[in-house]
Amino acid sequence: MYQNKRFYIPTKIYFETGITDRLKDILKDENFKRALLICDSFFEENGTAEEIKNKNDAVLDIFSDFTPNPMLSKVEKASKLLKELDADCVIALGGGSCLDLAKFASAYRYADGKIQDYFFGKKKFEKHIPLIAIPTTAGTGSEVTCVSVCNDDISGIKSPLNDEKFYPYISIVDPRLTLSVPPFVTATTGLDAMAHALEAYWCCAHRDITDTFAVASLKSIFGSLEQAYSDTKRQNIEARREMSKGSLFAGLAFSQTKTAAVHACSYPLSSNFYLSHGEACAFTLDLFLLENAKFDKRIETLAKELGFVNVDEMASKIKYFKKKFKLKTTLADLGCKDSKKLAEECLAHPLYNNNPVKHSVEELAALLEELK
Ligand SMILES: [Zn+2]
Repeated sequence: MYQNKRFYIPTKIYFETGITDRLKDILKDENFKRALLICDSFFEENGTAEEIKNKNDAVLDIFSDFTPNPMLSKVEKASKLLKELDADCVIALGGGSCLDLAKFASAYRYADGKIQDYFFGKKKFEKHIPLIAIPTTAGTGSEVTCVSVCNDDISGIKSPLNDEKFYPYISIVDPRLTLSVPPFVTATTGLDAMAHALEAYWCCAHRDITDTFAVASLKSIFGSLEQAYSDTKRQNIEARREMSKGSLFAGLAFSQTKTAAVHACSYPLSSNFYLSHGEACAFTLDLFLLENAKFDKRIETLAKELGFVNVDEMASKIKYFKKKFKLKTTLADLGCKDSKKLAEECLAHPLYNNNPVKHSVEELAALLEELK
């Protein structure tokens, strides 16, 4: 398909430390007058949401009634509020879950029928309210992708939905917002961004433009993740800036290519063993780095470009990060006794087809068992 070679993103991107102070100007320039602020409850509790509302007349109300891994029932609730307010814009301030919920709600606001019909792809969205995405973590890249990951209350299924209506209209990336992120979240979201960049680089759908963003992203992330994690005084804005840039560039890359086996495995790992998305991605990241490098010789060159002697050293660095950040690294850590069943679930995910190397159930189960 020739479309698979294009690079398309309809989002206006602002990337600058302190740029969120200009939200009022942005709303004015865009002529938005009736906005709903959707934010993580943390920002409502610490007064940030109220402060934004007070400074911006266009912000009519605040919605924060959702948890990480947002449920479709909460998407419905936010959509209902958008309808009641007759909102002309949605502002999403928070981590990946907040942005994902806001994307779905801004499109479902105009939809009719059951939300599950859209979630499972039986129906397509036709319209949406413009979304201003303001990420507060450096990791998901959700501010520049058209993916929304939600949970269906009825079936319990967690799944990503791709829809071009989900692209934010504006993305405001302000590294300053990530200063207050706790170390564990800095670590896991940072490794998620690393997984986005690596998978965009080696997946079947990679192309020259996405490779360029992926490599730039990896340079930023490998060069600053540890400093951002150790920034307990919350003042290393340079490391935070590099992480935000790395996350944004990784988002730009995988928004076009999608991800591959690491993300395919992350879904069963998250739902069966309650790992956060970033920790679930980190779990197999070094495994697939080594596996895919056997097939794709560009990965050896990439490792050298990033300053490693070879791919093995690069994989060791990822393992080092996982230990340093106290993440789960083995099946025993997870309490997983049936590696074959886990491998089957991983291989069943469609994203595995985007991985350059395919595995049988037995092969993948053996690789998972070897994780140290
Ligand atoms: Zn991810």
